[in-house]
Formats: sequence, structure tokens, C-alpha cells
Amino acid sequence: MISFWDALLLFVSLFVSLFVSLFVSLFVSATSGRRPVSVLTDFLHDLLHDLLHDLLHDLPYSLLHCLNRMRWSFQIAKITGIQIRLHLTFLLLLAWVGFGGGVESGWRTALTGIAVVLLVFSCVLLHELGHAWAARRYGIRTPDITLLPIGGIARLERIPERPSEEMVVALAGPLVSAILAFLFGVASGFTLPPLDGEIQEWSQLCSKLFTINSGLLLFNLLPVFPMDGGRFLRALLALRFDYRRSTRIAATIGQGLAVVLGMAGLWLSAPLLLFIAVFLFLSAGSEASQVDLREASRGLKVADVMVTKFGLLPSTAQLADAADLLLRASQHSFPLTDENGRLVGLLTRNSLISGLNQAGPLGAALDYANTGLPGLLPSHHVSHACSLMQQFDTSVLPVLDVHGMLVGLFTAENLGELMVMEHRPGGAAFVRKEGDG
Ligand SMILES: [Zn+2]
Repeated sequence: MISFWDALLLFVSLFVSLFVSLFVSLFVSATSGRRPVSVLTDFLHDLLHDLLHDLLHDLPYSLLHCLNRMRWSFQIAKITGIQIRLHLTFLLLLAWVGFGGGVESGWRTALTGIAVVLLVFSCVLLHELGHAWAARRYGIRTPDITLLPIGGIARLERIPERPSEEMVVALAGPLVSAILAFLFGVASGFTLPPLDGEIQEWSQLCSKLFTINSGLLLFNLLPVFPMDGGRFLRALLALRFDYRRSTRIAATIGQGLAVVLGMAGLWLSAPLLLFIAVFLFLSAGSEASQVDLREASRGLKVADVMVTKFGLLPSTAQLADAADLLLRASQHSFPLTDENGRLVGLLTRNSLISGLNQAGPLGAALDYANTGLPGLLPSHHVSHACSLMQQFDTSVLPVLDVHGMLVGLFTAENLGELMVMEHRPGGAAFVRKEGDG
């Protein structure tokens, strides 16, 4: 049962979180020159839109990916060429821990609470760097690592497909956690931290970090995607079966385990456990469908899937023109071209909505368009297009001919339709007709 004081603390923490997000909005608006209200409404819009859209509409995106996609993270450091980013919600966690500790037993507890959170995140960062450095051995770059309140996420340029490489990359993170657990264990004499959570001396801090790193190690070794254990299991299965089948089997095992975990959460009435179970269940399914997509599109060219009928906008267009096209032709991305017909930028539906929010219908479309996207050739493989999409974190890429003229749009939506075709009776034949030839 939640006691009166717990409820009061929760209420006050929520209030403080809201206050901190207002403060952050003011800060962002001061540094970017945008109105604070529009920063805050953008944030709430992004949060609700991404959560609802991704969780209910396209399950292939996991919660972690969706939090990460909201761009509400900023770079705090660069280690061996890898951007280390902190998600803004992480600051909320710090405020919550600090405030919670402060209300309960004074500023010393608050400060140790914050210090423990920062130390735990340094351990998570080292774990993620373990994956990144192992991936580098196989020539796979890691553009960034983002720290979220629910852990870290290292965005690898691509997933190693050779089983032995995936095993090494998957185990490198847990290996770092195991070393840290061992070192803190030695420093604390392998004792458990005090039950009341009060930390008074160094050995207690070390024993706390010993238990947390051991927990991180065990949790990550669970054979469930996207945990490291799930990736290791898939690589192990891939030694015997093909990649797609291995992923299916590993995902099914993972989802079974997530269901058991969820039932335990219900039985123990532990909401956090239930939340983790739901997250793991969705992520396992998402990994399986991503691999399905990759395998289904193997052998297909960009020209086979690109959209060729779409409206163009001049580079001088206003946001209202794009909105008009969205309503009339239900087009979701809008190429902007100069007077010679060359592509200068791509406006997506999301950036159109945030542009309308900030600048109104008379705003210049080019100000909100993405101008840094690489162009695809019609002869490129779909798998290449997919990895570029992931790398540039976009749902649409322009397709250009050899003279640099726009000939098509490669969209995530069309890829989704490809999957639907494949699952229809007789659909597989359609999709594979070029792949087997
Ligand atoms: Zn890991």
C-alpha cells in the first residue's frame, strides 16, 4: 500500500518535474531563440505523438528507440570519436532523486543520492563503450551513445551479421560490467549495502556499486531482445539455422520470458517489473520484424520500391503549400526543388507540423526542411537504403538519377507495404522474384 507520505512525495516530485521541464524549456528557448511556449508544446507534442504513434501504430519501434528519437538529448562529451549524449529526462531523474532524498532526510542524503545516480550512469556508459569498442574491431562505427533514465543505448552503424562477431559485440558490454562488479566487490569485501540505503562511508558506496553492476550484468544477460543475452542467443542459434529463423526462435523465447516476468510483476504487484516486461515483449517482436524486413528486401533494388508519383514544391514555398499538399494528396514528405529542378531539401510531415506550430502557415518551408540527406540511386540495394535511413534517423530518402535529378522517394511507409505483400498468400513469390534470379 502507498502511504500518505509516499503519495505526497510523488505529488511533489511530479510538480517539481513539471517545474524543471518548464525551466529546461526556458533554457532551450534562450539558447535557440525560440518562444518558450512553443518549445514546451513541441516537447509535449513530440512525447505524445511519438509514444502513441510508435507504440500503437507501428510496433516495430521500441520505447527506447522512440525516446531516443525525440532529439531531446544533448552532447556532453566525445570519447574516441563517439558522441556521448544525455537525454533531458535524465535531468528529471536527478532532480527527482535529489528532491526525494532532500525531503526525506536532508541535503546529505540528497547529494549522495545524486552522486550514486551519476556513478551508476558512468558504469552504464562504460558498459555501452564496451560494445562500441568491440564493434570497432570489426569496422563498425558507433556514432553516438545516449544515456536515458532506463539505461544506455549505443547506436551502432549496423548490426554485425556474422554470428561470431555478434557474440563478441554482445558480450563485450556484460564483460565490462563483470569487471566493474568484481573491482567494487573487492573494494567492499563482497558485502551487501545497508538495507535502509543510507550511505555513510566509502565501503558502503563500493558495495552499492558492486550490487548494481552485478544486477546490470544479470539483467543484460537475460536471453531477451534487445538485451545482450538475446543477441548472444540469436548468434548462437545462427551457427545452426539461418539468420531469420534464429531471430524468430530467439524472439519467441524472449517473449515467453517477458510474459513470465510480467506475470511475476502482477503477482508481486511491482509496476516497474511489469513495465520492463512489456518493454521487453515489444522489443523482441520489433527486432524480429526488422530482420524479417531486411530478409524480405534482400535482392530488391531501390527502383522496385520507391514512390514515383508525388507533388513537388518550389524552394520558396510556404508551409501552407505543403499543408495543402498533405490534405489534398495525403503526401507525407515534400521535396523542395530550385528553378533548375534540383532537390534542395525534404520537408517531412513531422517537421511540417512543428513548423506550423512555430512559424504559422506563412513560414518558409525551406527553414524546416532537412537539407543534409544523402541521395540514393535507383540501382542501390534496399538494404543499403535501410541502413542509410537508420544512420540519418529519417523515414524518407530522395532517389536521384546519375545527373542528380529527383526521380523518386524511398519511404519507410512503402517498405511497410512491402512486408504486408510478403505476408499475403502468394506475396512471397512477388517479393522474391528478383532476389533469386
Ligand atoms: Zn549491453
